[in-house]
Amino acid sequence: MTRKEFLQTSAAAAAGALLVPQTVFGQATENAPIQEISALASPFVLAPLPYAFKALEPAIDAQTMEIHHDKHHAAYITNLNTALANSPLRDKRLGEILAAVSAQDTAIRNHAGGHWNHSLFWALMQPEGKTATKPQGALAAAIEKELGGWDACKAKFAEAAKTRFGSGWAWLSVGADKKLFISSTPNQDNPLMKNLVEGVGTPILGLDVWEHAYYLKYQNRRADYIEAFFNVLNWSVVEKNYAAAISF
Ligand code: MN
Repeated sequence: MTRKEFLQTSAAAAAGALLVPQTVFGQATENAPIQEISALASPFVLAPLPYAFKALEPAIDAQTMEIHHDKHHAAYITNLNTALANSPLRDKRLGEILAAVSAQDTAIRNHAGGHWNHSLFWALMQPEGKTATKPQGALAAAIEKELGGWDACKAKFAEAAKTRFGSGWAWLSVGADKKLFISSTPNQDNPLMKNLVEGVGTPILGLDVWEHAYYLKYQNRRADYIEAFFNVLNWSVVEKNYAAAISF
């Protein structure tokens, strides 16, 4: 291999290494999506969805997916890059930004959270019927032991999602004690924001309950949207996130 060929190969490898986490959210690597997302660095970019806008119908309609991804998620990223321009957090990875952000950094709090949260949300879903409808393996065992089984866990998660007043997210996370817990946060807050939230941990499953996530199809019927979400939830991704979260 000549030096020129070596340099070309190295440059291609380096470019590939940079591109992978920005585009596939872990689907083509050994890392869990939560690791890929937390490792993202500025300038942040909008990755394409890993499926078509209409792929989640009838649970989530194509128009909602297109607006949610191409407008809402895109805006969080644009605003995050702007907010970081003069911030000491600008050279941090996305996960480090969430861990460090304070109540005074309103723009970074909202938009870094928006980028992290939506990146997970897209990775968690897939067309109906492509995976198990319940958690399996080590995650199922932990849910049984720590949350009283899947039915109880699902009911508690749905309740957290239903009762989040206004806009926010419901979460299934792993705490510092390595145990699962369910919580909800307002706006774009995230359990990784240890300076800001009550339930601090590593999220492995999150559900967006902002009206922009469901209003075109479900209007005021948030409970129906929550139920439909479980039909398109990719449990293998949640299990991968769980394995990563308990090893941190
Ligand atoms: Mn959203």
